[in-house]
Amino acid sequence: MTTVLVYLDHAGASLAKGERELLSLGASLGDVAVALAGEAEQTYLDGIGSYGVGTVYRPASAEVSDVLVAGKAVFLTEAVRAAGAGIVLLGNSYEAKEIAGRAGVRLESGVITDVVALDGDLTATKADFAGSYTVDCRVRTGIPILTIKPNSVEAAEAGISSSPREERLAVDVPVAAARVTGRTEKPASGRPELTEARVIVAGGRGVDGDFGPLEELADVLGGAVGASRAATDAGWIEHSAQIGQTGKTVSPQLYISVGISGAIQQKAGMQTSKVIVAINKDADSPVFEIADFGVVGDLRSVLPQATEEIRKRGL
Ligand SMILES: Cc1cc2nc3c(=O)[nH]c(=O)nc-3n(C[C@H](O)[C@H](O)[C@H](O)COP(=O)(O)OP(=O)(O)OC[C@H]3O[C@@H](n4cnc5c(N)ncnc54)[C@H](O)[C@@H]3O)c2cc1C
Repeated sequence: MTTVLVYLDHAGASLAKGERELLSLGASLGDVAVALAGEAEQTYLDGIGSYGVGTVYRPASAEVSDVLVAGKAVFLTEAVRAAGAGIVLLGNSYEAKEIAGRAGVRLESGVITDVVALDGDLTATKADFAGSYTVDCRVRTGIPILTIKPNSVEAAEAGISSSPREERLAVDVPVAAARVTGRTEKPASGRPELTEARVIVAGGRGVDGDFGPLEELADVLGGAVGASRAATDAGWIEHSAQIGQTGKTVSPQLYISVGISGAIQQKAGMQTSKVIVAINKDADSPVFEIADFGVVGDLRSVLPQATEEIRKRGL
């Protein structure tokens, strides 16, 4: 059976949703091994075990994480060789994509990023050219290295209670010009991480500086709050909330676009969302071309009514 190596890099107490999705996908494709770059607590390792993972490869020295992505790419390469992996899966963060690219060069293997669906013969589906095309593609050289967008697969609990074997790998950490000198944890907002959220409420210039009603709607739906570049450039919300070509790419189950016109650069980051709802006061706004449901109206009256109705129904 093919060994599927899943690359994880999460320092924490439990597996993130995107990591559970990767392990579930891996288990559907073959025997799963894990390359774990960061430090992890026992509860996190137990979580990996519940997916029936046979081996967890870890770097022999924490130094791999001190040199941005270069050390992690070497570590992943060593783990692929040690595991004899036939498929490599990573998350879709900028860092994971860079690690995938560097490992691809080292392993002389093809890399596909931004994958939203993968079938049994490893045909991957992704959006290309700023979302203008949906493409089916396959790696034809070496070991397929694939970065998977969050929400592309259901995270199933494997429910197996196993204690994976741990193997430490010596990694020849490259001499790097840039080193990490410190880390500060981002204060938690209580909302899900944008790229992992099942529901996103995103606001644009039409919000006119007040994200309060969007936050209320996001909170009743258990969602995250995102934004167009016009809104982040105006300083109404932090830059990390930007969705689009030069922001984050997201694929939630539900994307509620509020006061956003739907420029191509915005669409590039969200049009693989499963259901798109647009609220815009201009019936001719291009956002309605990609929306599954549209509400033509002023967001200041539509949003409070929607939030109230959802609250009333206890959804
Ligand atoms: C190289 C490059 C990269 C870019 N990258 C990105 C990117 O990553 N992400 C991104 O989003 N953009 C990006 N842009 C910018 C992009 O081209 C658009 O300018 C931007 O997306 C517009 O943001 P917006 O839709 O919020 O604003 P606008 O286009 O001004 O649209 C505002 C909308 O709000 C509606 N509206 C106004 N008031 C209300 C109201 N009260 N109720 C309901 N609706 C209302 C209006 O009808 C309008 O449709 C990029 C541009 C370039 C050149």
